[in-house]
Amino acid sequence: MARRLDYQDHRRELDANRYVYAVVSRRARGLSIGVNLNPDKACNFDCPYCQVDRTTPGGPSRVEVGDLVAELENLLRRASGDLWSGPPFDTVAPELQRVADVAFAGDGEPTTPAEFPAAARAAREARDRLAPGVPLRLLTNATVLHKDRVRAALAEFDELWCKLDAGTETYFHVVDGTRLPFRRILDNLLLVARERPIVIQSLFLALAGAGPDDVEIAAWVARMREIVDQGGRIDHVQVYTVARAPSDPRCAPLDAARLEAIAAKAREAGLAAAVYA
Ligand code: SF4
Repeated sequence: MARRLDYQDHRRELDANRYVYAVVSRRARGLSIGVNLNPDKACNFDCPYCQVDRTTPGGPSRVEVGDLVAELENLLRRASGDLWSGPPFDTVAPELQRVADVAFAGDGEPTTPAEFPAAARAAREARDRLAPGVPLRLLTNATVLHKDRVRAALAEFDELWCKLDAGTETYFHVVDGTRLPFRRILDNLLLVARERPIVIQSLFLALAGAGPDDVEIAAWVARMREIVDQGGRIDHVQVYTVARAPSDPRCAPLDAARLEAIAAKAREAGLAAAVYA
């Protein structure tokens, strides 16, 4: 569930870290602190647009939650102290020198590791201690939200940002590189959205020269309407495209006009939707 980087990638500056990284994001208006629970780079999706570099091997699968918390606490403390006075963060515009969020994202689906519940709780406690008021977000592909251990841990997060890149089973399999049933994703989104509002994140792109057609977009809107009509709550929909060239050369961004037209279709169906360029 790799986070899209939309400013400058400062991960290298935190290379000693295994789990926690930092990205300055104009969209988030500050420093996004990322928590990567997939240091092995394992993901149950294989999105062609994924920006995780899987040409180099990942690390061990096991997540050392104590180490993760130490890294998170250290970065949160530094963010309210000396972080901004040294390179490269001293180049960040003064208005962006703030922690905007802590987000479980990283190099795979963060809910799949066995340590997810413990890591979620520990991160929430660290946030409460050192950065109360900073939202704790989960970016997820929704594949395992039905599992009891995952569902229970969702309560640790302030916001759930859930991927929905398609409206049909066929396109879902193509754009997310999986054979998992689309129905499971849709059922999980409804399950969670009935309990609390969710954010839908939808990435649309041109694949081998072709973006999703109007039929696909209509189906995507219909899937979200079904969630709402069955009692689910969608806070808003984020429409975006690939920011940089992914490793798969078939992938290219959609132009701004097409993204706006897609977001407009969601709005016509009564959903709050915006394009995130
Ligand atoms: S869900 Fe897709 S984009 Fe996210 S890490 Fe997995 S393969 Fe990459």
